[in-house]
Amino acid sequence: MRTQDFIQKIKSNEIDIVEHTHKAIEECKKLNKEYNYFNAISEELAIKQANDIKKQLKQDKNSLKNKKLLGVAVSAKDAICVKGIESTAGSRILKGYKPLFDATVIKKAVEQGAIIIGKTAQDEFGFGSFNVNVGLGFEIPKNPFDKTRACGGSSGGAAGITQKASFPHIALGESTGGSIAAPASFCGVFGLTPTYGRVSRHGLIDYGNSLDKIGTLGKNAYDAALLLEAIAGFDNNESTTINEPINNYTDSINKKRNNIRIGVIKETFRDIDGKVEKNARNGIEKLKENGAKIEEVSLSLPVKYGLAAYYILATSEASTNLAKYCGMRYGMSEELKGNFNEYFSKVRSEHLGTEVKRRIILGTFARMSGYRDAYYIKAAKVRAKIIQEYKRLFKKYDALVSPTMPILPPKFSEIEKLSPLQNYMMDIMTVSPNLAGLPHLNVPVGFEEKLPVGMMLTADHLEEGKLLQIGSLFDEE
Ligand code: GLN
Repeated sequence: MRTQDFIQKIKSNEIDIVEHTHKAIEECKKLNKEYNYFNAISEELAIKQANDIKKQLKQDKNSLKNKKLLGVAVSAKDAICVKGIESTAGSRILKGYKPLFDATVIKKAVEQGAIIIGKTAQDEFGFGSFNVNVGLGFEIPKNPFDKTRACGGSSGGAAGITQKASFPHIALGESTGGSIAAPASFCGVFGLTPTYGRVSRHGLIDYGNSLDKIGTLGKNAYDAALLLEAIAGFDNNESTTINEPINNYTDSINKKRNNIRIGVIKETFRDIDGKVEKNARNGIEKLKENGAKIEEVSLSLPVKYGLAAYYILATSEASTNLAKYCGMRYGMSEELKGNFNEYFSKVRSEHLGTEVKRRIILGTFARMSGYRDAYYIKAAKVRAKIIQEYKRLFKKYDALVSPTMPILPPKFSEIEKLSPLQNYMMDIMTVSPNLAGLPHLNVPVGFEEKLPVGMMLTADHLEEGKLLQIGSLFDEE
C-alpha cells in the first residue's frame, strides 16, 4: 500500500492504528532474527504513540487532518537520539546510554504523527561502507536479497528494513561520506542525503560535524520526500541549520519538467564493475527517454582527490568528537583505578572496535602540530576547490549522474579480504558530494544476478525538490 493511501485510511479509521502497529512490531522482531536490522526495537514507545493517535482520532479527528506522517512507522539510525531508548551509534562504549531528550528530527517526525519503531544497525559511529564494522557484541545486518552479502553502510539496518518491511515505513539515516547512498544502492531503495544544514543535527551522535547530515530512505521517492518535508528546517538548537523556507518536496514528485540538463560524470565510469556500468547507463537512457538533455562532463579533481581529503577531514573531526567517551559521562565505565590517562585508555581499549581505534589514530595524527599544515589544512583547501568545481557545473546542469557504488553488493567473505585502504576506495563516488555539502539521491536502476544496482543524482545546494522530481522518474508504477 502506498504511504499516502495508508495515511488516509488511518485518518478515516479504516485501519486500526494500534492493531497495525502491533503487527508491524511483530514483523520487525521476526525480520530481526533473520537479518539483524535493529539494535533496538522500541515496542513500548511505538504502542504508546499508536494509542495516543487512536485516542486523539476519537476525541478530535480534525486536529489530525494535516499530519503528514500519521501512523507511519519511522525507524532511526542508532546514532539518532530517541528519549529513553538505548542509543549507542552501534558502539559498545555507549551501551546503556538512554538519552534524556529526542533529537530534533525525532521530535518533528512525531509531531507529524510518526510512530518510532526502533534504532537501526550501523557501522560503529558510522565508520564503514558495508556495515560490517559493527561495535563489539553487535550483529552485522544482512542484505535483503542475499544473506551472504552486505547491506552497505553505514546506515545498513535503515536500508535493509526499508526494503523488507511489508508495512508503510520510512527510515532516518545519516551520511557523513555516503552512508545513506551506499546502503540504499545495495538494498535497492531510494536514499536521500539533503544539503548540509537543511536538517538539524541536534541529538545526532557526531561522526564529523562539518560533514554529518541526517536524511531519509524510502521504498520510493515520494516516501523519501515526505519524511524530509517533516524534518527539514531551521533549529534554534543547531547553529549550522539553514534559515530558508522548506519546500513541499512531495509536490515535486512525478511532476513533469521540461529541459532537464544532466551531466554524466565521465571519471566515475572508469574502473567499475561492468554490470554496474550497464545498469547506470540504462538509468541515463531512461532520463533521456523522459526528455532530459544528457552531456558528458568532467569532474576530475573531486574524483581524484575527494577520497584523500575526506578521510583526513572525517577522521580528524571524529578523533576529537570521540574524546568525550572516556568512561565518565556516558555509557560504559570501568573500576576507577590509576590516573586519568590510564583509566581513559583502559575504557577505550576495552570497548571500542578496531576500525574506531584506527580512525582515532589517523585523525589525531593528521591534526597534530607539525603535521597539521601538511594534512588537515591541505585537505580543507582541497575541499574548497572541490566545492568550486561542482558550483561551476551547476551553472549549466540541473543534476550530475554517476553510479552510486563501483561494485555489486559484496559477499562478507570478499569484504574480509579487503585492506582498510581498499575499503575506503569503495566510497569513490559518494565522498565528494558529501564534502561539498550537496544533496544527492540514490535511485534503484536495475538488477544484476538478482542484486540491485543504484545510480546517484547530485544537485546544487538546497535543490532537493529538483532532485526528487528527477528521481521520481525511477519510481515503480
Ligand atoms: N564510508 C564512509 C566512512 O567510513 C562514510 C560513512 C558515513 O557516511 N557515515 O567514513
